[in-house]
Amino acid sequence: MTAPDPTAPDPAAASFGRLWAELEPVGRDPVSGGYRRFAWTWEDRVLREWFAACAAARGLAVVTDRAGNQWAWWGDPDAAGAGAGAGVVVGSHLDSVPDGGAFDGPLGVVSAFAALDTLRADGFAPARPIGVVRFGDEEGARFGVACAGSRLLTGALAPSRALALRDGDGVTMAEAMRLARFTPDDVGRDCAALRRVGVFVELHIEQGRGLADLGRPVAVGSAVWPHGRWRFDLAGEANHAGTTRLADRSDPMLDLAAAIAAARTLAQRHGVLATCGKVRVEPNGVNAIPSRASGWLDARGASADAVRAMVTDFTAALPPTGSLTQESWTDATTFDAGLVARLAALLDDAPVLATGAGHDAGVLASAGVPAAMLFVRNPTGVSHSPAEHASRDDCLRGVHALAAVIRDLAG
Ligand SMILES: [Zn+2]
Repeated sequence: MTAPDPTAPDPAAASFGRLWAELEPVGRDPVSGGYRRFAWTWEDRVLREWFAACAAARGLAVVTDRAGNQWAWWGDPDAAGAGAGAGVVVGSHLDSVPDGGAFDGPLGVVSAFAALDTLRADGFAPARPIGVVRFGDEEGARFGVACAGSRLLTGALAPSRALALRDGDGVTMAEAMRLARFTPDDVGRDCAALRRVGVFVELHIEQGRGLADLGRPVAVGSAVWPHGRWRFDLAGEANHAGTTRLADRSDPMLDLAAAIAAARTLAQRHGVLATCGKVRVEPNGVNAIPSRASGWLDARGASADAVRAMVTDFTAALPPTGSLTQESWTDATTFDAGLVARLAALLDDAPVLATGAGHDAGVLASAGVPAAMLFVRNPTGVSHSPAEHASRDDCLRGVHALAAVIRDLAG
C-alpha cells in the first residue's frame, strides 16, 4: 500500500465543508446564535428534505421507517441473500435542544455522508450494505421524551403514549406529525427497519472534556449512564401581589426554589448529577402569586442505585402539596464490548469513554443491536449551548475514523 500524498487535497474536507455549510443556517436563532430544530416543525421538515437530497445526490435509496426516522442505503439490505442484520449503519440526529449548538447530532450525519464520499473517492467496494440514518426527535425538546424516534422504532416507547404527548402550546405529537405531512396512524415498532441493522456506530461530539484532558481527538464510547426525567408539581393559591399579607400566602414559587436547591444538595450527597433546567409557573404574571409551579428534574450518574436514591430523597423533600411524576427512565447501557475493543484497536488505540448523555445508539444497544459510538474532541466540553465547538481538523479526523470503521465493518 502506498502512503497517501500529504499535499493532495483531502476529499473529506471538501465534502464535509459543503455539507456543513448547507446545514449551518437551518434553525439558527439570529440573536443567540443557537439552534432551534424541534421535531415535526418547519425546520425539521427542511432537515428531512436536506437528508433526502444528500442521499439522492449519492444515489442512495431513502426509506422512512414507521417512526419517521430516515435511512439512506448504499446497497440493498433487503436483497435476496442479504439476510437479517446485513447493514452497517452510521449516522445520528439533526434536531436540537432550545438554543443548542451546531455539532450535537449534525456532526454525526454530516460525517457519515462525508465518510461515504471518502470511501467512494478511494474506490471502496463494500461487501455489505451501508446505511446512513437520521433519527428524529432525539433531544425530546418539544414533547419531553428523549430519543423518541429510536424508542418508537424499537418499541421502547409505546405509540399511544408518544402520540398523546403535548408540546408547550398543547399540540399533540400526532397533530404535529399530521401538520408535517407524516401520517401517525402507522407509528410504532418497525421490525423490518431494525432487521436491516447488523451494527450501528454513531459519531457524536463529546459532551465533556475527556478527550481534551487526554490530548486525543477521537474516542470510542463504551457506555451510557443510567438517566431519567421527572416532573414535580407544586400547588399554591393564586392571589394579588399587592394585597395579600405574607403570612396569608400559599406561594408555590417558594417551594419550587427550595426543591431546586434540594436537588443540588442531594446530587452532591449521592454523587450523581441533577439539573432543573425547565420550570413552568401558572399564571406566570409579575403581580400575581402563582397558583401552581412545576419543575423538571434531570438526574443521571454512573450508578442507577445512586440516581434512584437521590430521586427518593428529593421526593421526600417536596412539601405535602407537591407530587413527582417520572417521565422517562433509561437503565445503564453498555455498548457491545467486542465492537468497542475492535474500534479502539482500529483507531490507533483510541481512548474508551463512558458518557452521561443519552443517545440513539444506546436505545439501539438496549434493543439488542450491536452498537458503539465515536466521540470527537470538544475543547471546552460545553454542549447544549451555542458555545459547543469542535475544530475543523478534529471533525475531519472524525470523518476519517468513521470511514476506517465502515471500511473495517463492511469490507
Ligand atoms: Zn446528540
